[in-house]
This record gives sequence, C-alpha cells and structure tokens, in this order.
Amino acid sequence: MEQEMNESTSSNNKKLFSSRPEDWSIDEALKLYNIQRWGDGYFDINEKGNIVVLPEKNANGPQIDLMDIVEEMKIQGIAFPAVIRFHDILRSQVKSLNKAFRDVIDECRYEGRYMGVYPVKVNQMREVVEEIIDVGAAYDYGLEAGSKAELLSVLALNTNKDSLTILNGYKDEDFFRLAMSGLKLDRKIIVVIEKFSELKTLIKISREMNMKPIIGLRTKMSVKGRGKWSESSGDKAKFGLSISEILNAISLLKSEGLDDCIKLLHFHIGSQITDIRTVKDAITEAARLYSKIVKMGINLEYFDVGGGLGVDYDGSQSTNESSKNYTLAEYATDVVYGLKQICDLEAVHHPNIVTESGRAVTAHHSCVVTNVIDMIQTTHTDFDTRKVTGEHHLVSDIRNLEQDLNKHNFQQIYSEAQQLKDDCQNAFRLGILGLEERAKIETIYWTISKSIVAILKDVDFVPEGLQDLEDQLAPQYLCNFSIFQSAADSWAIDQILPAMPLTRLNEFPEYQCSICDITCDSDGKIDSFVDGDGIKKTVPLHGLIPGKDYYIGLFLTGAYQDVMGDMHNLFGRLNEVHVFSDDDDPTDFYIEEVIKGSSASEVLRAMQYNPEYMAHGLKKVVDKQVQRGRITPRDGVKLVDFYESCLQSYTYLNHSKNFH
Ligand SMILES: *Cc1c(COP(=O)(O)O)cnc(C)c1O
Repeated sequence: MEQEMNESTSSNNKKLFSSRPEDWSIDEALKLYNIQRWGDGYFDINEKGNIVVLPEKNANGPQIDLMDIVEEMKIQGIAFPAVIRFHDILRSQVKSLNKAFRDVIDECRYEGRYMGVYPVKVNQMREVVEEIIDVGAAYDYGLEAGSKAELLSVLALNTNKDSLTILNGYKDEDFFRLAMSGLKLDRKIIVVIEKFSELKTLIKISREMNMKPIIGLRTKMSVKGRGKWSESSGDKAKFGLSISEILNAISLLKSEGLDDCIKLLHFHIGSQITDIRTVKDAITEAARLYSKIVKMGINLEYFDVGGGLGVDYDGSQSTNESSKNYTLAEYATDVVYGLKQICDLEAVHHPNIVTESGRAVTAHHSCVVTNVIDMIQTTHTDFDTRKVTGEHHLVSDIRNLEQDLNKHNFQQIYSEAQQLKDDCQNAFRLGILGLEERAKIETIYWTISKSIVAILKDVDFVPEGLQDLEDQLAPQYLCNFSIFQSAADSWAIDQILPAMPLTRLNEFPEYQCSICDITCDSDGKIDSFVDGDGIKKTVPLHGLIPGKDYYIGLFLTGAYQDVMGDMHNLFGRLNEVHVFSDDDDPTDFYIEEVIKGSSASEVLRAMQYNPEYMAHGLKKVVDKQVQRGRITPRDGVKLVDFYESCLQSYTYLNHSKNFH
C-alpha cells in the first residue's frame, strides 16, 4: 500500500508547470494553488489579486484582505514573520463540529447526546482554548488534557459544569489527586485508564480522598489507521488496555466496589485518519466492545471515539497522507449511524458520543506570514562564456551543443551536456582545467538546461530523465522564518502545508521556486507544495520588485505547528496578531490583540544566559580597548548601546527591503 501511494504521488510530479502569462487570470491562480479546496471555504482571492479570508464561508459576508492586515501591522510596527490568528474561523469550526453531530443525532433519532471535547495539546494557547470554551458553551463542549500541566490549565479554564473534562495520558498520584479535586469543584472529570497499573494508583487515591472517581477505560483497537499515525493502535500501541486487561480491570474495580464508576469507553486510532473506511471499522469494533461491557452490567454512559478527524491539507480529497476522503458530515454520520446500528442489534442503550477532534478544529484558524529576504539562484548564467583562442576542447564542445540545440534533439543534447559537465569536473580535479574554463562550462550547461525547460513546455511528452529538470533549476526564495519554529511537522514528518504568495495573484508567477528559511540548517527548507494537480517540489512565485516587500503565507498551521516549534538557532516565538471580523469596519476586521514574539534576551535567558551580565561583560572588554586607545570612547559607547538594543529586539531578520 505504501509503495502504491508513493508512486501515485510521484506521478503527480511529472507534469511541468504549464500555465502561460497570456492565459493568466485569478481563476488560474485559484486552480494553481488549489486554494478553494484546502481552504475549505475560508480562503479565496479577491479582484485585487490578494488572498482574502471569508470567516463565514460566505462571499457576501465579511471578507478580510490579508494585505490589509499586513498594512495595519506595518503601521503598528509589528515586524514579520508573524502569526495571524482568525478567531472567527476557530468559532466557526467549533460550531460546525457540534452542529454536524447534532444534525445526525436528530435525523436518526439517536438517544444519546453529542458531548465533544477539545484536546488542548493540539494548541494550548490560552486565547485559543478560551475562544473554544466560549463558543462551545452553548453545546456543552468540553476539554481534554494529557499531562499534569495541561490538567492545571483545563481545571482553570473549563468552568462549565455540564461539559466534560477528559484526562488521557500517563498519570501519577498527583495527577489523580488533582483530577479528584476537580470533582469536588463540581466538574465532570473523567480519568481514562491508559495502562493497567494506573488502576491501583487510582484506587489508592480514591480511598485516601474518600471519593469515587469517574473512570474511562481506553481500549487498544485492532483496527489501524494508515499513514503517519497508524502506530497509535494495534497490539503494539503505547496506550490502552487489551481485552483481557479490560476484563481484569472490571473485576478489580468490582472487588473494590468501584465498578459503578466505569462510565466511559475510549479509543483513539491515530491522528489524521485519511480513509473513512478506517473510521467505520473502528466504530464497529468499539461498539461491539461497548455492548458486551454494558451487558456485563457496567453502566457505560459515554462512547469516546478519540481524535483523528482529518484535514485536507493538499485539497485532493484523497487518502494521501495529507488529505482525507470524507467530509465532516460524513464522519459524523458514520460515527452515529455505525454506533446506533450495533447498539440496536445488541439491544443496549445508546451512549452519549464524545469526540476529541483537535486538528480539524484548529488547523484553519492560523497562518504564518513571512517576508522574502532574497532569491538564491543555484544556476548562474551570467558569466562571460565568449570563445578565446586556444581554449580547451571541452569548452568548445559544450558551446557547440548549445548552438545545435533544437526541439528535436534536446534529449540527446541534454545527455551529452551532462557527460561534458562530468568530464569537466574530472578534468578540474586532475588539474587539466582552470577556474575560468570550469566556470564557462558550468554556465553553458545551465543555459542549455534552461533552454530545454522552455522547449519542454511545448512538447506533448516529457521523457523520464527530464521530468525533474525544472525542479533542479528552481531558485530558492529565502524567507524570514524558521521552519523548526513555525512548521515543525513539515521538517519532522514531511507534513504538507499550503504555501503561497498573499498578493499579486492577478500577475503571472514566473518562477518555480522552493522556499528556504533563515536557520543555518540545510534541512531548513520546504520542497513539497500543494498544486491543483497534486504535490509538487516547487511553488510558482513572482519576481521580486526592488524596494517592495513580498509576502508568503504558510497556511493551516493552527493545529500542532503553532505550539510545537523549537528554538533551533535561537529563533524564538513569532509576533502574533489576533484578528476578529467586523462587518461594520471598512476593512471588515480589527486587530484585537498583539502578542510580542521573543526577543534575543528572552531566548538567551531560556538557555541559562544572563543578558545583563553579558552586556556588562562586553562593556568591560570595550572599556579595556578604550584604555588601550584601540577604540574611541564615543565608538565604545555606541558599540555597547547597539549590543544592548540587539538583545532587546526580535530574533528574526530586520531588513525587510533587503533585495535590490
Ligand atoms: C492527539 C490526540 C487527540 C487529538 O487528535 P486529532 O487528530 O488532532 O483530532 C485526541 N485524543 C487523544 C487521546 C490524542 O492523543
């Protein structure tokens, strides 16, 4: 299966970028960047050629032009890169999820309720969780936590006593103590047992506090998702009880008089479930288990299907790892109907349904906006290659190839040019060729390659060996951000995130580019992009205009990416703006909150440095140099001031108008 999928993705690479300047239109841009598909109705392009956000998924509702936000940020002096959060999208996603389940429940006269929870690990930002709780209150939408620190946060934030607080993850005594204290505060806190030995701890704490817990049991499923998170289920899964452990757990709790505390059955087959069949199979398996446990006399009230509701990052609506082949409505239908069917067959009551969807709730609401610093060309063709008398025959040979090239012989010319380039490198190592000659040969080689790419756009069939040529020639756009901070999964697990320019989408994008970040790590690059025809190694971008900023957005970063970033190269957290829509405002939005990103002194402090002490140390060295007469007192003061001001400033590059 893996094999098959890889092949089908690589076959998508075979088509060259075929749009032409004369056919360009905003419709072409929509297709090329696939924005309406991955944007799920929230993103579009306006007649100015800028990306707009439609917080109500409605072209007649508010339309927020991302460039208007960028302009307002500039006026407020907020530097890039920056995270832009759309709170309306977050609210809309929570509503859609709850409505989807309520609709199906009404439609099929299901007798339980939908009581979803938001797993905070997906994005723990206080403002995000507060917004979710606020809009979720109407649906008794709760929270899920997986660690002690997360539990502390959900205890403080989830004050709705009718919604659930579900606790997953490995637990120690304090974790259980905190959870039980929550019960005293009238919260519906359910502790999910992830491994058998936790039960003993729980029983001990429950005796100590003289309180009865609300217990969930997590089962290890035999159904596996496929893709990146498939190891979350199956016999080898890290979490969950086997069937025999579940039976033992029930008898142990019975013997302790706590069997009436078992209220929830939980499973989680992994994040980003790409295939709806996996959901159906999992529901069937878990529903049978639920029914059998109920028939043993255990009064289960909740059926918790965990997370996994996918996001269509590439917009292909397929079982690609970065996609999903189902809609939210289909997901809700399969969960509710699937469970109802088995419960009715087994003649047991319909439990309340819990989901722990995080990715689907948060992914769309935030994006990272970065400014392009420079274009890095790997294939230079601006070296003087004119003939000189007595030049080496390798140089003359490749020049002849360049002159002979036409649309009938390009394949042969390309292979001969490659051969000559190899020969040239060998000859250089042997000391036969000089620097000038090598530079000429390489320049002509790149000129030939570029001419062939131009020819390929006009031919019907692109030969196998030439399919990657355009990608090899792609320039890199150096962008002001760190992939390790802002798109961790794109580096770690090849997660695909849509990336595209925010503006000039009414102009033809003439360069096929890859994107690299400003870390000094050669891994700090993005080379998988969403395209109407599949996944490509390059993204079409516009030429840079001297003195004008060019902005690129990295989208769907609201789930995991926002909060998983690391401090590689000491690039810290980004400046952040929280945007709300306002139909009465001429720009349809206002910036409600600005959160400043990390300063150099903050990231240094996190690494155990003391910035004041560092500045003091530097000043002592400067004073010495002043005494020795190597630096003037005036320059000494300037140097120390500058060092101190850099400590206070943003960790990212400061010169936005760097290219000329
Ligand atoms: C990570 C996790 C989730 C969230 O999964 P999504 O795919 O983001 O919806 C839910 N439940 C558990 C137990 C998890 O570990």
